[in-house]
This record gives sequence, C-alpha cells and structure tokens, in this order.
Amino acid sequence: MRIDVLTIFPDMVEDFAARSLLGKARERRLIDVRVHDLRSVTTDPHHSVDDAPFGGGAGMVLAPEPIFATVEAVEPPRPLLYLGPAGRRFDQEFARELAALDGFSMLCGRYEGVDERVRTNLIDGELSIGDYVLSGGEVAAMVVLEAVSRLIPGVMGNAASADDESFSAGLLEYPHYTRPADFRGFAVPDVLRSGDHARVARWRRAQSLARTLASRPDLVLAHGPLSADDRRALREHELHRVEAAIDELVTGHSAPGNAPRQEP
Ligand code: SAM
Repeated sequence: MRIDVLTIFPDMVEDFAARSLLGKARERRLIDVRVHDLRSVTTDPHHSVDDAPFGGGAGMVLAPEPIFATVEAVEPPRPLLYLGPAGRRFDQEFARELAALDGFSMLCGRYEGVDERVRTNLIDGELSIGDYVLSGGEVAAMVVLEAVSRLIPGVMGNAASADDESFSAGLLEYPHYTRPADFRGFAVPDVLRSGDHARVARWRRAQSLARTLASRPDLVLAHGPLSADDRRALREHELHRVEAAIDELVTGHSAPGNAPRQEP
C-alpha cells in the first residue's frame, strides 16, 4: 500500500506519519507513505504556489502549475483525491474502500483552495472529513492516513481489534474497563470478571446495541431488525426497553403492550 500526500506543509504530515502505529507500520514496510512538497517544483525565487483570484475577491488560490508539475514528476498512485469540503464525506466505509487499494494519493489545498482546472483535469475525486472548513487539507490527510492505515493487515498488533471497533459491524463499540475493579466506588460490571466468555460476548453485544441506540439511532435503523441472538443478549442483561425501542424504530410503530419509548 502506497499513499502519497501533496502539500505545501510537508513537515506537518511527515512528522505525524513518523509516529505511533503509522510510524511503526512504515518502519516495518507495511505501508509506504510519501510526502511531496508542492514548492519543490517551483523555479521562482520565492517558491510561489499561489496567486490572486481572477475576478477579484478575498484570499489567494493555489495555482495549477506546481500541482500539475508535481503530479507529472512523482506520478503518485491513483486515485488522486483532493481534500475539500465539497467532497464525499469520509467514513469507515470509505476508509475500508481505500484500504483495499494498492495505493492512492491526497492533494492538500490551502488558501481559498485549488485552481478549478486542477479539480476538472487532474484529480480523480474529492474527499471531505466533515461539514466544516479547515485552513488546509493537511489535517484531513492525517485523518485519512490514520483511519486507513489501521485497516491494513498487520498494522495493528491485535488483528481482531479492527473488526471489533465502532462502525465495523454497523454499530458503536461496547464499553471497556481495566484495573482497578473498583475505582473510587465505581465498580466494573460483574459479568466482565465472571470468566464466562460467552456471557461476556452477549453483554458486549447488548451494550453495543444500547449505546448505538442512545447515540446513533440512525445506525440502529440501518442495521435492521434484531436477530434472535441480539434479543437473547438484551433480555439476559435486562435491557427490555432497548429491545422494545429498537423494534419500534425498525418497524416504525410501537408493539402492542410496549411501554412508551424511553432512553435506555
Ligand atoms: N474556499 C473553500 C470553500 O469555501 O470551500 C475552503 C478552502 S479551505 C480554507 C482551504 C483548504 O482546506 C481546502 O482547499 C481543502 O484542501 C482543505 N479543507 C477545508 N475544509 C476541509 C474539509 N472539510 N475536508 C477536507 N479538506 C478540507
């Protein structure tokens, strides 16, 4: 997997990509991250990459020349994605799609963004990390680098952990606890100390359903009707209200005799 990043702030991305899981993955050659400085292809004394917009108005625009020249010089892996607020919203599904490729590249904008001819004649797609405006694409590139790299086989120590996380099965993850078992009077749920792995798995599934219902009912709806195992898990942990609320959400009506919907 090769990921190229084109930016006018290469140090920001390089520093980030040298650390933690991503840095280790690069050392172990599981992932090849190459950061290219858009200024390095400029020939003027100031290494200019931007200019004033035609038609006037505030701000500067990243000129097409250094971007086209960098792409022609380094031939970054395709697709080349421009990071911008108008793009497809980045999510775990998008991360999975990118992680399945042999490589891809990201172009970081700055100022008012890139000259439109870059968007219409050079890039393959556009990616947004959310409905807000950043000052540059570098933070977005780092978000994508981190989310994608941890899905590459071997990058995470425990291969099972990526499968278990939020969004991987369409739901949010269950809560985690570590020692001490009693912290300032707040106790760890007994089931987690029972040693009964099947029961622990059912508790986690029930918690995952309850937490997703409380925070992201849209995900519960997309996930669809409860399975028999899900019902068993919820009932075993006395989450009857969660079961009723999910049924109501998924079917669109309250079952006869159900209590009015309450938060779990
Ligand atoms: N004038 C642009 C607009 O209104 O859509 C915003 C430009 S922004 C100040 C500068 C750069 O930050 C953009 O070219 C883009 O690369 C990056 N950027 C801003 N918001 C982003 C987002 N939500 N996702 C990804 N990149 C973003």
